[in-house]
Amino acid sequence: MKYFDYAATTPPDSDVVRTMAEIMEAHYGNPSSIHGYGERADQLLRRARSGCAAAIGVKPEEIVFTSGATESNNLAIKGAALRYQSRGKHIISTATEHASVYESFLQLQQWGWEVTWVPVDSDGRVSAQQIMDSLRPDTVLVSLMHVNNETGVIQPVAEIGNRLKREAPRILFHVDGVQGFGKLEAKPASWGADLYSLSAHKIRGPKGAGLLYVRNGVELTPLLSGGSQEQGMRAGTENVPLLVGMAKAMRLAEERQLDFARRTTVLRDRIMETIETIPGLVLNSRKDGAPHIIHFSYPGMKAEVALHTLEQLGITVSTQSACSSRSAEPSRVLLAMGRDAANAAGGLRISLGDEHTEEDVALLEQALHQMVAQLRPLERRM
Ligand code: PMP
Repeated sequence: MKYFDYAATTPPDSDVVRTMAEIMEAHYGNPSSIHGYGERADQLLRRARSGCAAAIGVKPEEIVFTSGATESNNLAIKGAALRYQSRGKHIISTATEHASVYESFLQLQQWGWEVTWVPVDSDGRVSAQQIMDSLRPDTVLVSLMHVNNETGVIQPVAEIGNRLKREAPRILFHVDGVQGFGKLEAKPASWGADLYSLSAHKIRGPKGAGLLYVRNGVELTPLLSGGSQEQGMRAGTENVPLLVGMAKAMRLAEERQLDFARRTTVLRDRIMETIETIPGLVLNSRKDGAPHIIHFSYPGMKAEVALHTLEQLGITVSTQSACSSRSAEPSRVLLAMGRDAANAAGGLRISLGDEHTEEDVALLEQALHQMVAQLRPLERRM
């Protein structure tokens, strides 16, 4: 079985696993305790914080550790909206964001905030000008993803962040960086981002660990009440082993980013070219997208049927994003890109990791041809 679903999650790096296991057994102190066990754990936590900060070019005190990017996105969006509601209650995003951003916006809408959903073009890209045109005097927050988790499209976050800083410096800019870090250059402070979310398990770290970069001076209303951990922004005992694991995974991902992009771009381009030659399949991603994601549709075929056929052929891919793939709805992202329901219901994502080789890709290509040959008689009946 070949795994091509790295955008859903990655196999953890063995060194990362070893480090986490050692810490879990040997350094179980609570980092808030003032005795020796606590101090040792706190030292490890401080080192992890510095490592994570260095990997994205920010200061250690600007890192808030969380349980993953779902929490980081919720904290960034709701925490900023609640904290700065006296400035206004208008917030801006797109319909192609990850569920943890999209649903946070919908919840704020229910609580009385006004949302502008900025449209995307047929590639799923938002324009900086359209974001700027949607600003109002009562706008408090713009939230945008760096790389789309379904299609791999890259949003112009640096252009938007820098224009916001120049033209509307009081408006906060949040970037969901989950699918971009380790694949593209990711320096949120240089983009003018005030808030930036990451998740460890997309970069060969553990599940259940993430962070939110909170630019110095930005305040958030905490979503979890309790102790004063994480500068009062996120109560709860820090998960020291997982956070040390995340710091290590971030360092490795950052060091290997250029090499990762170079290797996967070659494989991605080859897979895209193959998909374009198979009658019945429609490519939805482009070569100027992220190096690790290829999205295509098989209109007239339920994505689920195609996925299970590929699985029987030894290839694991994904329908939509993992968080939404059990939903029967067509992809919200593809609908926002103007695709019809048949295209949006037949969407499949292939995502690559650092371990993939030309041989793996040859097996994938063979399986794609075979899948279509097998399913062709069923096409019209779906
Ligand atoms: N944002 C994006 C773009 C994602 O791809 C994901 C993972 N599906 C998340 C946020 C949520 O991350 P986590 O799994 O750490 O909650």
